[in-house]
Amino acid sequence: MDKIKNNKVIFATVLGLVGFTINLYPIHLFANVQLILGNVAYVISAILLGPWYAFYTAMIAVSGLMIAWDSFHVYFLFGIEAICLALARRRDIYALYANFGFWLILGMPLFYLYLSQFTELPSGHIAFISLKQGINGLLYTSMGSLLIILTPTFWHFKNKVKDQQRRTFNAQLTYTFSLVITVALLLAALMFNNQFIERQQNLLYANIKNSADNLAASTQAYIDKHTQAIHNASQWLSLNQHNATDEQTLLTQLHSNYPGFITMLLADKQANIVAASPASLITKRNSQVPLNIAERDYFIEAFINQRTFTSPLFLGKGFGRDPIVAISAPLYHPDNRHSPRGIIEGSLDLNQFKLIDEIDNHNQHQTMLLIDDNNRVIYASESLQLTTLTEFTYSEPSDKYITPFPMINLDPNNSVAPEYVYASVTLNNGWKLLILNPFRPLVELVENMYVATFAILIASLLIALYLSRVISARLTLPLENIANKFSTKSANSDKDYAVDNESPKEIYSLFKRLQQSKSQLIGYQLELEEKVALRTVELEHANNRLKALAEKDSLTGLYNRRYAENKFTEIQELCQRTDEVIAIALLDLDKFKFINDTYGHHSGDLTLKVVAEQLKQEFKRNSDIVVRYGGEEFLLIMPLCNALKIEEHLDNFRQRLAKIVIDNKEDNHQFTVTTSIGAVLGNGTFSASLEDWVKQADINLYQAKHSGRNKLVFTTLANE
Ligand code: GH3
Ligand code: MG
Ligand code: MG
Repeated sequence: MDKIKNNKVIFATVLGLVGFTINLYPIHLFANVQLILGNVAYVISAILLGPWYAFYTAMIAVSGLMIAWDSFHVYFLFGIEAICLALARRRDIYALYANFGFWLILGMPLFYLYLSQFTELPSGHIAFISLKQGINGLLYTSMGSLLIILTPTFWHFKNKVKDQQRRTFNAQLTYTFSLVITVALLLAALMFNNQFIERQQNLLYANIKNSADNLAASTQAYIDKHTQAIHNASQWLSLNQHNATDEQTLLTQLHSNYPGFITMLLADKQANIVAASPASLITKRNSQVPLNIAERDYFIEAFINQRTFTSPLFLGKGFGRDPIVAISAPLYHPDNRHSPRGIIEGSLDLNQFKLIDEIDNHNQHQTMLLIDDNNRVIYASESLQLTTLTEFTYSEPSDKYITPFPMINLDPNNSVAPEYVYASVTLNNGWKLLILNPFRPLVELVENMYVATFAILIASLLIALYLSRVISARLTLPLENIANKFSTKSANSDKDYAVDNESPKEIYSLFKRLQQSKSQLIGYQLELEEKVALRTVELEHANNRLKALAEKDSLTGLYNRRYAENKFTEIQELCQRTDEVIAIALLDLDKFKFINDTYGHHSGDLTLKVVAEQLKQEFKRNSDIVVRYGGEEFLLIMPLCNALKIEEHLDNFRQRLAKIVIDNKEDNHQFTVTTSIGAVLGNGTFSASLEDWVKQADINLYQAKHSGRNKLVFTTLANE
């Protein structure tokens, strides 16, 4: 099976053969209307495989129809349909919609043209057959599509045609609705219509058969009654001898009792007419020679063969040229019953059948036709437009029309569209009575049913469209709302505006779960934000500490040399712009090695801290920068200072430091420390490099050391 599925050619062939077999036996619906289901094969091929495979499958499948119908148009019409379906599928148009368009724009017009060119069907019927073909197309297309939707795994194979783009739920729902409605409605309508039509047909046939029986009985009774009347009159006239006048009177009386006779007459043994009714037939004659009927069958049969006789139909000669049937019987002398003395004859009024035809209250569509044993028309309802006494000609409709009763066409050249449904009864005298009912009203009934079915189908599809919109909105709208709601940051999660009472349970529980998740998320988020804030503060602190570490000396807490160098550029630029002075002092503790050596490193460190603390206290202007420049060397950068006072300030510091007793309580050492100071004062413009300034201060420091330590050497720099 997998192998077949994955080989498109084999799969298309198998589909085609299945379609072919089904199409060999189209389902007969009514007269020449048939239901085709085998075309489902190429619908499936069009949806799954593509245009050429669909065409290929169609060619195989419709060959079944070709055999059943013997008409080549099937290859053309259904071939185009298969290709159209597959092309539409490539453009993501659903098969049913595509098929609808195909039949409306191409299929029905083409089929109509074909039928009107190549068949002699009446145009009304052609329109109907075209419509039926379209409806049939919708049916098998829906069936094929539904088959694929209902058994998705069965058609799951490689290389099948896939949708180009994702379809909305609404479109999917609408399409499925449309398919189900189309299949259900059409199958139900076809089934019920068919049953109804069959019943209608049977009723109609029973009705015309009944009419035929009744009319035949009436006709028979009419003939019998008049035959009996002539027979009785002959018996009665043979009982007594009458003179000519009496006989004329009796005949007139008798005629008045039987108005069904056009004329009545009495003839003598020479076949001369001796009495007639109406009497004027004789009295008005100009000729004196009596009318002689010796040659007439009715005289010969009654007089010579001595029996009551009913003639075949013939044209009257004596008293007019009406088509008549003569009923005659022999007359005898009262005392001689062996040789007749004459005959009595009545010409039956065939127009009286019209009365029978009209009296019988049969359906107004029904018409009556009476044919004699020589196949000549005796009587025909006016609407049939047949001439009495002419030969009855007819043809039988083609065998493509299947009905449960016999059909006949009065037009001998038309055997295409059936004209009449009929029932016939043969009378005792060999006459045939036919009751005809036109076939067209039955076809019209079916046509109307199809049109109604089609209209209901369209209406149902529109309702389906609307319904599926409404229903899918119950799913998609809340989903969209939920998505919108949860994608925005708004915190009003108590409001259930995304779902309402109509929303499906699944949507509601999804909404609730999402709501829970969102509040959980918000919780986590707040917690996280708090943690981040905390960490940020900690980080800032750490950063500050790091920064301080980078800028400051860990032992004394003073700025280090790198900071001094960076900061100096800024200070120098400012002073250069404002034409201010900068004082730089380099301090080196005297004999510090000695302190280390004598009192230990710990005391040395303590000394450095004490000196630093003193420096901070003495030089505490915002602009003053106190730096530990090296081991026991300190640097003071003092911009914007008072040039006159700075030297004094530095010297005061030197003197105060010398007096401070450093007390190392741990090791119990007390000692003092002195410092030598080399300081310079210069204009900001002197140099942008701290190194240049320090070099100058260092010269002074060297001087201070050499002149005995614990000294301040202060100079003012001349601008270069
Ligand atoms: P002078 O009067 O010529 O400056 O003599 P001095 O001993 O101060 O000079 P010298 O440069 O020879 O000695 C400096 C000493 O300072 C050497 C070193 O052991 C000590 N020293 C430098 N930094 C520190 C420090 O951070 N802590 C301690 N305890 N001693 C330090
Ligand atoms: Mg030193
Ligand atoms: Mg020193």
